[in-house]
Amino acid sequence: MAKVKVATVWLESCAGCHMSLLDIDEAIVDLANHVEFTRSPITDIKEFTQVDVGIVEGSVGSTEAEETLKELRAHCKILMALGECACFGGVCAMRSTFDKEDVLKRAYIETESTVGGKIPKPPGVPELLDKVKPLNEIVKVDCYVPGCPPDAKTILYALTELLAGRIPVIPSDMMRFD
Ligand code: SF4
Repeated sequence: MAKVKVATVWLESCAGCHMSLLDIDEAIVDLANHVEFTRSPITDIKEFTQVDVGIVEGSVGSTEAEETLKELRAHCKILMALGECACFGGVCAMRSTFDKEDVLKRAYIETESTVGGKIPKPPGVPELLDKVKPLNEIVKVDCYVPGCPPDAKTILYALTELLAGRIPVIPSDMMRFD
């Protein structure tokens, strides 16, 4: 049986959701028998190809993140939002309560440790969007796995459901810390 092709991206994020994915420990060996990771920080493959499942960590706060998300959406059948940042904006969206220019000024010029700071401009760096957005403000999202980060067993549950041909709906007891 052909393996299910999976691509993963991290947008504005801390990599914690991908770390939690790797935390499924030995189950990853069994998963590897059924899943082929294509473009992903895990494989370091950079090109998009058609896949069955696209998994997104992180929110959308720059033009680069927006383009990456749209490109993944165009290359996958099912798109999964992984973690609070992807599902709801998460900690990255805290900057949306401030003016973008004020945020840049604070980060690059006003911090106490900065001397002679300068705000970087595109094309050297991606343009920031005015507000940070969750995925579903930009593309269609098929399933959500919340948590910061989601527990490894919750991610494994979601992937197992996908492999069984079902869209995962995370049970409420998997969305709470015991
Ligand atoms: S949801 Fe939490 S762990 Fe995942 S990228 Fe956002 S801050 Fe990091």
